[in-house]
Amino acid sequence: MTDPALSSIVAALPDFDPGALPVAVAQKAIASCIRPLGGSETIALDAALGRVLAADVVSPIDVPAHDNSAMDGYAFDGRALSTAALTLRVAGCAHAGHPFDAMLDVGQCVRIMTGAVMPAGSDTVVPQELVQTIGDTIAIPSGAVARGANRRARGEDLAAGKAALNAGRILRPADIGLLASLGIAEVAVRPRLRVAFFSTGDELRSLGEPLDDGCVYDSNRHTLRAMLLRLGCEPLDMGVVRDDPAALEAALRFACDNADAVLTSGGVSGGDADYTKQIVEKLGEIMFWKLAMRPGRPMAFGKLAANGNHAWLFGLPGNPVATMVAFYFFARGALLQLMGADEAPPPLLRAQSQSPIRKRPGRTEYQRGILARGADGMPQVRSTGAQGSGILRSMSEANCMIVLGHEQGDVAAGDMVDVILFDGLC
Ligand code: AMP
Ligand code: MG
Repeated sequence: MTDPALSSIVAALPDFDPGALPVAVAQKAIASCIRPLGGSETIALDAALGRVLAADVVSPIDVPAHDNSAMDGYAFDGRALSTAALTLRVAGCAHAGHPFDAMLDVGQCVRIMTGAVMPAGSDTVVPQELVQTIGDTIAIPSGAVARGANRRARGEDLAAGKAALNAGRILRPADIGLLASLGIAEVAVRPRLRVAFFSTGDELRSLGEPLDDGCVYDSNRHTLRAMLLRLGCEPLDMGVVRDDPAALEAALRFACDNADAVLTSGGVSGGDADYTKQIVEKLGEIMFWKLAMRPGRPMAFGKLAANGNHAWLFGLPGNPVATMVAFYFFARGALLQLMGADEAPPPLLRAQSQSPIRKRPGRTEYQRGILARGADGMPQVRSTGAQGSGILRSMSEANCMIVLGHEQGDVAAGDMVDVILFDGLC
């Protein structure tokens, strides 16, 4: 590797202490090591939802392409407006897609529908409900509209030559519609990030296998796969890897050959870490950290190298809730960074805690919460109850995480706390 050692990059960060690493410092350490992978492929617009734009998209046209009406009403020359009522003769009709082709004469107006092109000689639309019609004339009461009202100007959404969307944008439904409105049928996007993942543990059984004494079903692989799909990655499920040095080494070599990043769950705490460390040391550079957080204290981060290939490694803790929390607050941001996505972290919202929460300053805690509107209409959050890091049911019941920051102490009922929602509109 020609890059500087990861350990020297992160050791230079202020407050870097691998034995009690504040969440923000660990996030910064990861971010300062990772560079976007680059590359691009051109795909159909309708296949581009959730993908990352590889280049700025410049609008080839004005949107809208013509001045047009924002209302159903009558288009006329607003210079004729005065303090008296204005009477105009209806010279014709303009529908969306069917313009009125002639020039308006003095004293004329055109019946116009929403989206129809403004006739030449008109600059104002009076809504139909504000006029009196008498035969083929209308009367506009004085003060009903101002000159220029209810007209959408050519290029007001987007002018030709302006950047419509920037590289790094994760395409959402409105972006897909925006690109369609520009007549763009194909877009250049970043290749999907290939992310391998496996679980470690002799006690783990895969779905379909009998549950032997003392064993548990491997749930992490399934949550990891689901979270990766949500993020737009291409997941590569490598199954369960036994607690055996040769098996672990073979799995990591395979992941390095076949993926851009690898997520493992389990095997990073206590004695396991020492043992894992020996195996992975010959495969690149891995740092084992103890984070000042709950749940999810142990975590490994590093870069594997084998056969000329590289893959970023995130060794997540095995407890199912800790795996998810470590994914959301460490791996997710790093994977987005690798994808070249220009994505702000999910916003922290404020909500009133319905109950007291015990919290020790000096570590970040992520509690599972249920956010709802209180009787006063304001957001309120309650804990899902027991917060053991193996209780996945309460993660499933929750719709948000209550984030209790590093310095935060005990929370009293009624105090405001930070929350992060799991889901949005799309
Ligand atoms: P570890 O981090 O390997 O010490 O595991 C911590 C706890 O999480 C143990 O109770 C494991 O049985 C459990 N665990 C580890 N991996 C998984 C998994 N993939 N699915 C469900 N539980 C797991
Ligand atoms: Mg284990």
